[in-house]
Amino acid sequence: MAKCPQCGEDHLSDPVLNFIGMWYNPSSLVNEYADVLEEVLYSMRDDAANNRRGAFMSRLRDYKECFFKALWVGLIATPDQVVHDASGARPQFMFTRLAKQVSRDIFGTESAFSRVHVSPENVEFTAMNVLNASTHMSPLFVQYRRILPDASVQQMYKWWTTVFRKTLPFFGMSRGC
Ligand SMILES: [Zn+2]
Repeated sequence: MAKCPQCGEDHLSDPVLNFIGMWYNPSSLVNEYADVLEEVLYSMRDDAANNRRGAFMSRLRDYKECFFKALWVGLIATPDQVVHDASGARPQFMFTRLAKQVSRDIFGTESAFSRVHVSPENVEFTAMNVLNASTHMSPLFVQYRRILPDASVQQMYKWWTTVFRKTLPFFGMSRGC
C-alpha cells in the first residue's frame, strides 16, 4: 500500500478513505461541498431572519471554510492531499493558509481575512480573529455576541443578504431562492 506523502500513514487501509482515494472525482466532491454550503447558507438565512445572533455568528467560519475547501479540492489539491485531509490526521494547513492559497491561486488577490481593522472603540482586529473565536466557542465569542450593538448585528445581517445572493449562483445553487 502506498504511504501518504504528507504524513507517511497508510490511509487507504481505511475503507472510507480508500473509497475517496480510488473513486476520487474532483467535480463530484465539489458538488457535495456545494450541497453542504447551500444548507449552511439557508440555515444562516433562517438564523438572521429570527435574530439568532449566536447561531448565525457561529456559522460564519463554517460557510467560508466550506466555500474555500470546495475550491481547493476542485482546483488545487492533489488526490493524495484530499485523502490526507479526509483522514483526520494533522491537517496539512489550517483555514488561514487555505484562504491565502485559494485567494492567491484562484482569485489572484490577497486574503482579506488577515487584514487589520480598527473598531469604533479603537481596538484592532482581523476578520480571522472573529471567525476563529466563533468557531472555537471561545469566551471572547460569547462576550462579543452579548455586547455587539443591535445596529451592528442588523448591519451584519444586511451584509449577509449580499453574500447570500452572490454565493448561491457561484456553484449553481438556486433552489428555493
Ligand atoms: Zn496523510
